Amino acid sequence: MNILLLGSGGREHALAWKMAQSEKLTQLFIAPGNAGTKEVGTNVNINPNDFEAIKAFVIDNNINLIVVGPEEPLVRGVKDFVLNDPQIAHVPVIGPGKEGAKLEGSKEFAKAFMMRHDIPTAAYLSVTQANLEEGLAFLKTLKAPYVLKADGLAAGKGVLILDEITEAEAELKEMLSGKFGDASSTVVIEEFLSGIELSVFVLTDGHGYVVLPEAKDYKRIGEGDTGLNTGGMGAISPVPFADDVFMKKVHDRIVKPTIDGLANDNIPYKGFVFIGLMSVEGEPYVIEYNVRMGDPETEVVIPRIKTDLVDLFEAVAAGELRKKTIEVDERFATTVMCVSGGYPEAYEKDKEISGLEKISEGLVFHAGTADKDGQVVTSGGRVIAMTAYGNTKEEALKQSFANAQTVTYEGKYFRSDIGFDL
Ligand code: ATP
Repeated sequence: MNILLLGSGGREHALAWKMAQSEKLTQLFIAPGNAGTKEVGTNVNINPNDFEAIKAFVIDNNINLIVVGPEEPLVRGVKDFVLNDPQIAHVPVIGPGKEGAKLEGSKEFAKAFMMRHDIPTAAYLSVTQANLEEGLAFLKTLKAPYVLKADGLAAGKGVLILDEITEAEAELKEMLSGKFGDASSTVVIEEFLSGIELSVFVLTDGHGYVVLPEAKDYKRIGEGDTGLNTGGMGAISPVPFADDVFMKKVHDRIVKPTIDGLANDNIPYKGFVFIGLMSVEGEPYVIEYNVRMGDPETEVVIPRIKTDLVDLFEAVAAGELRKKTIEVDERFATTVMCVSGGYPEAYEKDKEISGLEKISEGLVFHAGTADKDGQVVTSGGRVIAMTAYGNTKEEALKQSFANAQTVTYEGKYFRSDIGFDL
């Protein structure tokens, strides 16, 4: 089977690394990929949002399966584009169509979906200019802190958590007046949930599903989870507090109703569902859905799956995932993300990366790297993810940190407290 994987981050390197181990794979192409994906497949210089270029490549290279890494092509409708083009409509896509992608692309849609299917989530009100007064009144019924969410995609910046009601009122008005452009012409006001976050991942064909290992990620740039939000500074799987009792609640109250809800709503969905959860005194609530895998969670979730990923994708495409189960590595997997100096604010690129050849234990997943005349250089804020296994969390973390120390480039930074809070 020839596979085209869209994307270029650590998530895509981990997916590519795993698919490359399948006996079912003939050729793997990654568009556009990075210096790591090039070691396990062939990088092709195509933008994942350039659907015409994807079509031409699929035809020319006899592609049998398209796997979509990031959300943007999904929200823009890459799946619908493929399905509606007679020349490539036969090629299955791992990733939902535009309607399913609204679970991530519209917070209002996601909240209404959860309410409709009785899935536990924070109380909310969806507000536009037309019902601003109602929104301000709803804020008054809530206790601080106040959670305001831009309905649309806002590059991870569209959620504001405010301590004072006056700030919340002012921000609500600003958001509705275009603070995040069209993305905040509708704002979801939410009750604040206090607890510990974790993420659960599901692969589904729209009816059958397999639950993948859960993970916890670390979003802030600074130690002790302080400072600005990032794409993610590290992750760990399994999550120690997510015991069998908790995971059964997650399955029965959230995973199953989500998949059944998609089927009942007639939303075809073949792909990953990433469920961001808050455990509030041991009870799971949904914070958000994403319609693709997380980054860096993929760098710990995928290495713990022993089952052939291409075989699972084939079952998704055929609508036969019900017949499948997955085998999971019982060990801990941890990942520590090395980033560029200055990230998540301005940072420099093109820094030579050295020391990779000295790493013999663990898995190195490239994120923002590029190959410049045979030299691996930095090309993004998040540069490289150091994944390791261990029989304990501590053992895995020790190796992840050692590898993060070994690799060098100007301005390198990583958080040395990943996993310490668990
Ligand atoms: P991401 O960057 O994870 O895609 P996003 O912009 O889609 O984020 P959310 O995940 O909905 O937005 O919210 C971002 C963060 O805000 C959450 O990870 C969580 O820490 C916090 N948060 C969101 N909603 C709530 C809530 N109701 N109560 C408490 N914290 C919340």
